[in-house]
Amino acid sequence: SDVGSQKERVVTEEEWLQKWEMGNIGFHKEQGHPLLQKYLDVLLNGRSGLRIFFPLCGKAVEMKWLADMGHSVVGVELSEQAVKDFFSEHSLPYYEEPVPEISGAKMFQSTSGNISLYCCSIYDLSSFIVGKFDGVWDRGALVAVNPCDRQRYASLMINLVEKNSSYLLVTVSYDPNKHKGPPFYVPESEIKSLFG
Ligand code: SAH
Repeated sequence: SDVGSQKERVVTEEEWLQKWEMGNIGFHKEQGHPLLQKYLDVLLNGRSGLRIFFPLCGKAVEMKWLADMGHSVVGVELSEQAVKDFFSEHSLPYYEEPVPEISGAKMFQSTSGNISLYCCSIYDLSSFIVGKFDGVWDRGALVAVNPCDRQRYASLMINLVEKNSSYLLVTVSYDPNKHKGPPFYVPESEIKSLFG
């Protein structure tokens, strides 16, 4: 079946960078995601001043939403173009600096200090570098991870969250034999085995 063949498929880092270069970013939601609004209370659970993580963040506008609510946002994204577009599209001044622990990586931070975007592969991060988080917004992240890297991704995410954290995961329910993406099919049973 196609689900079987998806397991072998990979989207390479170069292919992601190329998508950004070509403006082939249909996944980006200009207006933000309605499900974050809907489940905001679940994410925040009455708490303020949280540290929220955006894995595979792209230029998700939800990062601006949460920062404006007083939370501290950390994202990770391969594409430097995506990261720079995020700051410029929201007219946010920022500075960039190298990340001493990761060769070639850069961290872009808003001058107000509440949004930090790491430009590198998520697999280069650890809680030693970015600390632990109270909340995660995973939209277009787990479903974009190559099937062969899912276990590694889930273990890393589990390692990056505090005990009392909330993890919002956006999944898409569809017949994988009829649709190719977005970009990978993640069956519910697998989500359960990955995250317990
Ligand atoms: N979460 C965002 C973007 C989803 S698309 C949104 O909701 O709009 C997936 C993004 O992950 C792409 O921007 C791609 O460049 C990035 N990406 C893919 N593999 C990555 C990796 N290993 N580390 C960091 N970012 C990655």
